[in-house]
Amino acid sequence: MIKQSENADITSLTTFGITAGCGSLFEYDTDSDLAALHSQGVFRRPYITLGGGSNLLFVNGFYPGAVITSRNDSVTWRGLDTDFPLMECGAALQLDRACSLAAEAGLWGLENLSGIPGSVGGAAVQNAGAYGAEFADAAVTLKVFDTRTGQTAEMPAANCGYGYRTSIFKAPENSGRYIITAVTFRLSRPCRANLSYRGLTEALGYDEITAEAASALTPRQIRTAVLAVRDRKLPDPSKAGSAGSFFKNPVVSADEYQQIICLSGMEPSGHRLPDGSIKLSAAWLIDKAGCKTLTCGGAALWPSQPLVLVNASGATGADVATLAAEVSARVRQRFGVTLTPEVIYIR
Ligand SMILES: Cc1cc2nc3c(=O)[nH]c(=O)nc-3n(C[C@H](O)[C@H](O)[C@H](O)COP(=O)(O)OP(=O)(O)OC[C@H]3O[C@@H](n4cnc5c(N)ncnc54)[C@H](O)[C@@H]3O)c2cc1C
Repeated sequence: MIKQSENADITSLTTFGITAGCGSLFEYDTDSDLAALHSQGVFRRPYITLGGGSNLLFVNGFYPGAVITSRNDSVTWRGLDTDFPLMECGAALQLDRACSLAAEAGLWGLENLSGIPGSVGGAAVQNAGAYGAEFADAAVTLKVFDTRTGQTAEMPAANCGYGYRTSIFKAPENSGRYIITAVTFRLSRPCRANLSYRGLTEALGYDEITAEAASALTPRQIRTAVLAVRDRKLPDPSKAGSAGSFFKNPVVSADEYQQIICLSGMEPSGHRLPDGSIKLSAAWLIDKAGCKTLTCGGAALWPSQPLVLVNASGATGADVATLAAEVSARVRQRFGVTLTPEVIYIR
């Protein structure tokens, strides 16, 4: 069934808590509903797809086009009696709900993603990730509605161009073209503990963890540790609106890294990637560029994680965008590094 609302208030459908509205809001349940919207010509006019609204900034407070959002939060299990069960989730299912269901069933694959706000569909676009794991590590197939053809097709996750917070769905030529309606995750009964993020081992109560101790862990224990680490660092969207990390961690070549050291006289925090490039900590750059206490209107940086811009008190989308531009400018001036927003601007 399709529910259509005109001049809808969608403030509560996003996590920034910034007043936002849209020309039309279409809430749908099935792929047939999307086919019906296609027949009505909805996708020939400006539209965006909304998941949990946890990575979006409505810059002007009102988007004049159509907002399309799924209500399908179904979960279907297959092969539960095997070592590698499949869990098919409707696009509207909260990613954290999928993580919780898997962990409670004693299945590995999603535990490190616990606590990431938003929907399974949004995570599939952003390749959401945390603590050494990404959406793409566990996803096997996506059900995708093509708004050009009006057809639904299955797409192997391996063909979705997944990389650091990116996918083919974000490529300019595909912008808005595909609506993800379901995702199938392949989970594992045999232990697959991913402890590559050091803070996680510490949260589990170990300085160093032996292979034997790691193999005795459960997905539920990792989930609990992840949620505890997140709680300490990140704002709870119900208390301080945000869209999580506002910028991506910049990746630079070894030569560029040396240039940054020469320019700034500092050795930026980061870690080397397998191809020799270095992923810098955007939070460190922002801090050392002296941005931590910057504000604009009601927008500010979150004290324990300056990579997160928050709606501290009645911020507008423009306040956040202006603050983000100022942070970027200062980092560029101090380190010669350009920060790329992870958050998607809707105008
Ligand atoms: C407090 C906080 C902490 C966060 N921590 C993390 C973190 O640790 N790691 C991380 O990766 N992210 C994090 N985020 C960002 C955000 O939660 C993720 O990017 C999340 O995956 C976005 O999902 P969403 O459903 O909210 O997508 P939305 O914000 O609704 O949309 C994001 C993009 O996906 C598109 N989209 C959404 N659903 C669909 C669909 N079904 N089909 C096609 N396109 C769609 C939208 O058009 C938009 O382009 C955090 C956010 C907050 C507020």
